[in-house]
Amino acid sequence: MVNFKTHRQSYKNKRKIENPPEQWVVFENTHEAIIDEDTFTRVQELRRNKRRPTRTGKSNMFSGIVRCADCGEKLYYCTSKNFEARQDHFICSTSRLKGNEVCGSHFIRAVVLEEGVLKHLQFVAFCISNYEDAFRKALGAKRDAEARKELSGKRRMLQKSENRIAELDRLFKRIYEDMVAGRLSEARFQMLSDDYEKEQTVLRERIAVLTKEISEQENQADNVDRFIRTVKKYLCLTELTPAILNDLVKAVYVHAPDKSSGHRVQDVDISYNYIGILPASLLNDLINGTAA
Ligand SMILES: [Zn+2]
Repeated sequence: MVNFKTHRQSYKNKRKIENPPEQWVVFENTHEAIIDEDTFTRVQELRRNKRRPTRTGKSNMFSGIVRCADCGEKLYYCTSKNFEARQDHFICSTSRLKGNEVCGSHFIRAVVLEEGVLKHLQFVAFCISNYEDAFRKALGAKRDAEARKELSGKRRMLQKSENRIAELDRLFKRIYEDMVAGRLSEARFQMLSDDYEKEQTVLRERIAVLTKEISEQENQADNVDRFIRTVKKYLCLTELTPAILNDLVKAVYVHAPDKSSGHRVQDVDISYNYIGILPASLLNDLINGTAA
């Protein structure tokens, strides 16, 4: 609920004047939600990322999601009326607009992409339904090892900054008393209190940054749970739909093909909602029982 969006010059004047957004007051959770917050956030993301159908009127559920692993741009969906649907494909938009020298075409057929992503989703679902604890632990362990040390360092720094702010308050009180009692000149008092104030401003800014970073890191644990819950909706997945794809997948990165072995080998990274890219080694360790 948003209040104070408008005001009136005076009670005599009926004309409403709009307030700038920084003067609005937002009250969260005053109405019961029709959809959950995760769905809402995802839909906002998708809406920012509009997809247009091609000239032939076709569209593909991967449009807007699939990106070039080398330049990061979206892959462009190409269809032709003269060819069968199996030939519909994606190519890097940079390469299409600026040429192959700037970025390779990263050509991938839409059916190949769809099959590959479906297989990976099925594999992840298999891992979670059979090795849920190990999966959770493997993901948590990965994050913990990096994050735990950092997190405790940040908490210490936060505590230190808060202590220093309290100390500065005490110091300020003392110099004020000294000035009143005549033990400190007014000019000296002014100088010291300016210094204290400056230091407190810097500390408050640091506290705000740290608090935000700490809560973001703590959220990561929740994110693993969210991901598992989402995958569990699709344990018997046989066909990919746009809804399922958007529910699970944030982005797909297509690498340039490697033909050095004589075969065309092409890596595709799937970045899942909430948890990002799952390293192949992590999933393989689960199956081989070396994890946990
Ligand atoms: Zn590219």
